[in-house]
Amino acid sequence: MIHLKNIRKTYESPGRVSHALDGVDLHIRQGEVFGIIGRSGAGKSTLIRMLNLLERPTQGEVRVKGEDITRFSDARLRQYRQGVGMVFQHFNLLRSRTVIDNVCFPLRLAGMARRAQLERAHEVLALVGLSEHAGKYPRQLSGGQQQRVGIARALANRPELLLCDEATSALDPETTQSILRLLLDINKRLGLTIVLITHGMDVIRAVCDRVAVIDAGRIVESGDVLDVFLHP
Ligand code: ADP
Ligand code: ADP
Repeated sequence: MIHLKNIRKTYESPGRVSHALDGVDLHIRQGEVFGIIGRSGAGKSTLIRMLNLLERPTQGEVRVKGEDITRFSDARLRQYRQGVGMVFQHFNLLRSRTVIDNVCFPLRLAGMARRAQLERAHEVLALVGLSEHAGKYPRQLSGGQQQRVGIARALANRPELLLCDEATSALDPETTQSILRLLLDINKRLGLTIVLITHGMDVIRAVCDRVAVIDAGRIVESGDVLDVFLHP
C-alpha cells in the first residue's frame, strides 16, 4: 500500500546540515499494524510525517497505491489527507469545544453538512465507547478518554490509514493497554492500516504485525515483530 523509496530529509541551519532521514526504504502493507521504534531523535516523527506530507522529503518518493504523493497538486493532496487520520501524544483537542464538536471539526473542514457531521461523529464516538460523553468538555475527561476522543476525531473522515504519533506515551500503563486494545479492535473491525511510532518495545509487542527499527535516520532492522525481537 505504501512504499517509501530512498527517503532523505535534510535540515539546514547556518553552518550545520543534519540528515533526519538518510536513505529510508520501507514497505507498509494494506491492513497491517506497522510499528516504527527508535530512541529520541532517531527520526521517527520525521518519518511518520512523510506519510501525510506534514514534512516533505528532500529526496525520494512516497508511493501510496502506486502514486507518488509528493507530486500531487495541492487539491489532490488535500483530498489524500482526508483519508489519513492522525493521533497525537498530547491529544491536541480544542479545549473550548465539546467532545462532539472536536470530532466534527475535521468533517467541517471537509465541507460536510452539519447534520451529517453529527451523525458521523456519534457513530465514531460509539466506536471508541464515549457516546455518553459527547456533550462534555475535554477537561472533564480522563487522559485515556481524551485520547479516545482524539482517535474518534482521527476516524471521522473514515480514513484508510491511521498514523499514531506516540499515542500512548502520555498515559499510564493500564490506560496504555486499553488504548492499544482499542487500536487493535479498530484495525480488525474497520480493516484500516495503522502506522505507529513509539519508543516502547511493549507497545510494539502488544499490537504490531511488523516493525522497523530506526537509528540516526536509517532503518537498521525490519520485519515481523516475532523475528525482529528475540523471545524472552
Ligand atoms: P524522533 O521522533 O525519533 O525523536 P525526529 O524525527 O523528531 O526524531 O528528529 C530527527 C532528527 O532531526 C533530530 O536530530 C532532530 O533534532 C532533527 N530535526 C527534526 N525536526 C527538525 C527541524 N524542524 N529542524 C531541524 N532539525 C530537526
Ligand atoms: P457499514 O457498511 O454499516 O458502514 P462497516 O462494517 O463498514 O459497516 O463499519 C462498521 C461501523 O464503522 C459503521 O458504523 C461504519 O459507519 C463505521 N466505519 C466504517 N469504516 C470506518 C472508518 N474508516 N472510520 C470510521 N468509522 C468507520
